[in-house]
Amino acid sequence: MEQPDVRLERVTKRFGDVTAVDDLSLSFERGGFVALLGPSGCGKTTTLRMIGGFEEPTAGTVFLGEQDVTGLPPYKREVNTVFQNYALFPHMNIHDNIAFGIRQRGASKHEVARQVPEMLDLVQLTGFERRKPTQLSGGQAQRVALARALINKPRVLLLDEPLGALDLKLRKQMQIELKRIQTEVNITFIHVTHDQEEAMTMADRIAVMNQGRIEQLGPPVELYEQPRTAFVAGFLGVSNLLLATIAGAGRVRFADGSEAAVPEEALRGAPDEVRIGVRPEKVRLSTTDDLTNVNGSNSINGTVRDVSYIGVSTQYIIDTPAGDELTAIVQNAGRGARHLDRGQPVQVLWDPEHTFVITDTAAVPTLEELV
Ligand code: ATP
Repeated sequence: MEQPDVRLERVTKRFGDVTAVDDLSLSFERGGFVALLGPSGCGKTTTLRMIGGFEEPTAGTVFLGEQDVTGLPPYKREVNTVFQNYALFPHMNIHDNIAFGIRQRGASKHEVARQVPEMLDLVQLTGFERRKPTQLSGGQAQRVALARALINKPRVLLLDEPLGALDLKLRKQMQIELKRIQTEVNITFIHVTHDQEEAMTMADRIAVMNQGRIEQLGPPVELYEQPRTAFVAGFLGVSNLLLATIAGAGRVRFADGSEAAVPEEALRGAPDEVRIGVRPEKVRLSTTDDLTNVNGSNSINGTVRDVSYIGVSTQYIIDTPAGDELTAIVQNAGRGARHLDRGQPVQVLWDPEHTFVITDTAAVPTLEELV
């Protein structure tokens, strides 16, 4: 197998009494776009800073490729970092900002004249070379910061909430741009963010962090469709979790005695009590006088408690005798979409393969914990 680009082996970082990163091991393949995602204080920036050499681990080892770089200063590592505040040199024009790294390493005039335009082209800022950083918008400054880092051809590019200072629209544009640039240069990008949508838009793999540890690491679709812990389920979107006991191979029973089918392998090794999850957009609602398409679906009874029309979709909160409430999001695709009313009895339907199983007993994070 190919050597991973970045590998942390049992890395811990303590600041006094605070354990910011707790016995963390991970490895990232060459050329991927990885997001470290988690709430404020979960240790993602500290992890990034240890890869970059800005912090020393209290214990453990950091490898870049085959090299143990623990203890090496940032400039002796094949990494570059892009920060939220750009950190451009204010007195230098854009050309000289971008050329800085390779000039420091003794690049010839010819090399500078060849590489700087290439980088300007990569970040789509050709024509801006004579401007000063103060004459750029936030998005443009961030592109210069990227070009200035990438010209060094690092093994790994670290991005510390790089889009945090941009307004929402520009942020969305830059997410797509960043992904394009990463694909074009094929350098490993490690990106720190607390914004789950941003992580999902850009990353091939997301490491969800909580209290200094990785809860789950995988492609966005896997984390969303098959979260393994309540924390991951709650951090990536809204999830419905119902308490259940195991009723047999591939079957669970809810508090009201009703049963549901779940993928058999999801229950392998599970304790007797589990939580069954289904995403709100995977849920269908059927009124009791309209029993179509129930075959093969899981089905539990409920009553509409709340209806919110959000234009593109309608969100329903359903009380169920199975224990907890459920959220259903129904796309308003048809013309004059039919709405259910508060107090109306409904059947809540979903496909067994859309069910995930949570075996830990941790609480789902609250909204305050997610920021
Ligand atoms: P945020 O999104 O708010 O930046 P984060 O997930 O990046 O959060 P870290 O910055 O890695 O979290 O911090 C993890 C923990 O370590 C926090 O409790 C933080 O207060 C603490 N911490 C980080 N840096 C230091 C430091 N230099 N001195 C003391 N404590 C620190």
